[in-house]
Amino acid sequence: MSSPMEQLYQQVILDHSKKPHGRGLVDLTAAFASESHQVNPTCGDEVTLRAQFTETEDGRRVVESISWEGQGCSISQASLSVLTDLVTGQDVATTEHLGSVFRDLMGSRGKGLDEAREDELGDAAAFTGVSQFPARIKCALLGWSALRDTLATSGVLEDAQTATASTTHEHEHV
Ligand code: ZN
Repeated sequence: MSSPMEQLYQQVILDHSKKPHGRGLVDLTAAFASESHQVNPTCGDEVTLRAQFTETEDGRRVVESISWEGQGCSISQASLSVLTDLVTGQDVATTEHLGSVFRDLMGSRGKGLDEAREDELGDAAAFTGVSQFPARIKCALLGWSALRDTLATSGVLEDAQTATASTTHEHEHV
């Protein structure tokens, strides 16, 4: 058994915090794009996240890019990096779904989720240990809150294709 502190700082989290993916804001040029600034005052974490969404030829709306600039603890910064990898290229319905699975994971009090749902989260499942530490859960959720905000404000959810949710899952995790 690893100690609670080891579970908190999984290698995946350390790696992502050292070499974060998506850091460095890019100009917003896509059809649907938005920026969100989020602060976690209890820890001092901050992020400005920009999300761009594009519509594919078959009418699916997908995450074209995530970029962000942030400061704060390694949990918050690593979570932003993992989020960037996880949702880039995913359609909007899948992105919302992953956010909801991750929020469920953070509510699991260290128990985690069933294997299928943790598989969906990829590297983000490494944050299971964080859910044992109520003070750190907001650190891990900072980027996901920003992402959810951009989904709501970019207009990408308006008239969203109902077909995307049902047709994508067979193809996403090959
Ligand atoms: Zn923090």
